[in-house]
Amino acid sequence: MLNIILFGPPGAGKGTQSEKLILKYKLVHLSTGDIFRANIKGETALGKLARNFMDNGQLVPDEVTISMLEQEVNKNPNAKGFIFDGFPRTKAQAEALDKLLKSINTSITMMLALEVKEEELKKRLLLRGKESGRPDDQNPLIIQKRIDVYNNETAPVKNHYSAQKKYIGVKGIGAIEEIFNALCDAIDRKLGLKKPEKKKGAVKKVAPKKVTVKKAPVKKSTKKAIKKVAKKTAKKVVKKTVKKTAAKKGTKKVIKKVVKKVSVKKATKKNVGKHAKKIVKKVLPKIIKKSTKKVVAKKKKK
Ligand code: ADP
Repeated sequence: MLNIILFGPPGAGKGTQSEKLILKYKLVHLSTGDIFRANIKGETALGKLARNFMDNGQLVPDEVTISMLEQEVNKNPNAKGFIFDGFPRTKAQAEALDKLLKSINTSITMMLALEVKEEELKKRLLLRGKESGRPDDQNPLIIQKRIDVYNNETAPVKNHYSAQKKYIGVKGIGAIEEIFNALCDAIDRKLGLKKPEKKKGAVKKVAPKKVTVKKAPVKKSTKKAIKKVAKKTAKKVVKKTVKKTAAKKGTKKVIKKVVKKVSVKKATKKNVGKHAKKIVKKVLPKIIKKSTKKVVAKKKKK
């Protein structure tokens, strides 16, 4: 499931962006403000209770809000995910939400926060009040109260999700489409559909450079010396192994013969180990077998 908390102060644009996001990501939109307003309109008991708080710019008590939200989540058992808009607004609500989602084997995917400065918020809310007639958007004192409640009670919820590494802030000023794209980018990155954004000023990770030592031309005399050492080493390795392997079967003669026969021509300083191993593994057994046979046959003739 894709469960997003769209976070931000009153007037940040959560409702507008939620409407666009639910269409794109096929999510269920749960806006506690909208649900309260629908209840007020329907004159339900919940609506009557909520109205007193909302009109004063206060939060509806946690108990009421949490149980209402639980009901709404449970009404959508087949949802692909939710956008929580206006919830959680307190630490207690955040904890209740985490618990609720855990009980249905899911969790919050991310908290997307729209960041807008206070002055801009006030302008937007007053304008919305004029257009929509929403009572809590028409009185500057109530607007201020809501912003204060946000700063004191709601903003700390950010820490709850930062601690879970789920908080992502997005600039909430600009064209609606621009902000929408920024939100989609953040979601797609979280879902792994897009590459992570390069942080400003972040130092590009560079793979450690392979240290290549320029090969200096090797002098002929040095080459000769290397070859000599390599041959000596290869012979030593071979001799040792032959002694071990052939000790049971052969005689000293066999050993001598084998060592003599073993080709160490190809041995160089680099491949001496490999080469010797190859000789020991593949070539030696054959030579030992052959030589032992010969020696045994000779002995018999005598
Ligand atoms: P805005 O984000 O502009 O404040 P909302 O529609 O989200 O608008 O909320 C309107 C009012 O509804 C809030 O001021 C508050 O009184 C009440 N409300 C909404 N969500 C919650 C919540 N999660 N907890 C308590 N009260 C809420």
